[in-house]
Amino acid sequence: VARLRLDGLSFGGRAVLGPVTLDLRQGETVALTGPSGAGKTTLLRSLAGLEPRFRGERVVPDRLAMVFQEPTLLPWRSLRDNLMIPLRISRDSAEAALAEVGLGGRGDTWPRQLSLGQQRRLSLARGFAAEPELLLMDEPFVSLDPALADEMMTLFETLRARRRVTTLIVTHVQAEARRLATRILRLEGSPARLVG
Ligand code: ATP
Repeated sequence: VARLRLDGLSFGGRAVLGPVTLDLRQGETVALTGPSGAGKTTLLRSLAGLEPRFRGERVVPDRLAMVFQEPTLLPWRSLRDNLMIPLRISRDSAEAALAEVGLGGRGDTWPRQLSLGQQRRLSLARGFAAEPELLLMDEPFVSLDPALADEMMTLFETLRARRRVTTLIVTHVQAEARRLATRILRLEGSPARLVG
């Protein structure tokens, strides 16, 4: 369902990524691992169409969603608006998405009234709410205590089981990759190549 062929990518004359080809098949969850600074986020941004330096070939479905490391919520809008505005979905779809992550009936409240765990759940709901065909996640479970990380991963597995969304997860936690992914890829070397 998705293909990225990257010619190579440099920052300020330093080659970070070498030529890389990434193919994602329908319904699989691929984990992208590798050392800090290897270029994982840059590769994900390239796939999302957010990287201005990208040169190569990029084929992605129209319905693409991204979940960032830190939830980027609109602080002065209700939870419902936080789904409806960026995703352009209906009120009913937004309510359904909230209910799916345990925030049913909370549509009129504000993000700052949520605990960290609830904010992360809202962020996951936003990733899935528009029924994406391709979901890109950048360290979605990082800096959570183990119990909360486990709860979030279980929630992710539940949401995924109800759909056939193809997912690419950037993570440096091997246990997370083994638990969630059907295929693990690794970026390594300088400039980085994809091994898997
Ligand atoms: P981490 O696991 O630490 O987040 P990563 O594998 O996601 O690392 P990237 O964030 O993709 O790595 O960064 C790859 C390299 O490119 C790093 O050395 C980083 O310093 C550099 N880099 C990323 N973005 C920029 C930028 N906008 N300007 C200059 N250098 C950048």
